[in-house]
Amino acid sequence: MTYPIVVYGSPILRLVAREIEPGHPNLKQLLADMFETMYKADGMGLAAPQIGKSVRIFVVDGTSLADEDPAMKEFKKAFINPKILKLDGDTQVMNEGCLSLPKLREDVDRHNKVRIRFYDENFNLFEEEYEGLKARVIQHEYDHLDGVMFIDRIPPLRRKLLKGRLNDISKCKVDVPYKIKLLK
Ligand SMILES: [Zn+2]
Repeated sequence: MTYPIVVYGSPILRLVAREIEPGHPNLKQLLADMFETMYKADGMGLAAPQIGKSVRIFVVDGTSLADEDPAMKEFKKAFINPKILKLDGDTQVMNEGCLSLPKLREDVDRHNKVRIRFYDENFNLFEEEYEGLKARVIQHEYDHLDGVMFIDRIPPLRRKLLKGRLNDISKCKVDVPYKIKLLK
């Protein structure tokens, strides 16, 4: 099943999400639903708080970009209880969007490399390094687990200019081709 995407203005997006235990009830179903919700909204990443669940899980799928960027070919996975161990490399500015901030795109500065430890859906532990767009998607989704959104990472003046649009988003006054909701 798909969930509506929880939008900016919902307090859950500002919480530090909690880790889950092995044997978390219906984990596989939750992950399947997260992927389905992400695809329906045409996103490349989705964090559990964005569907109203304050747990440390996010999913990514960048494989649709594999034609332009072959490095994205295998980039479909779930990150459970992830921990960023190291941010590395130069920082790079790239235009970002977020399903919880419909129709907003801004330049965000992020590190080019990330080293991350996480569990997969079977609670196998991995430690991997990603760079480029993959590192960016991971940092964006990881932020959601700490209650951070990309607008927190743009210059304050720029954010001020977006106030009206943010206000509209927090009232769901934005036309998007997927279901959204404000979770009070
Ligand atoms: Zn996002």
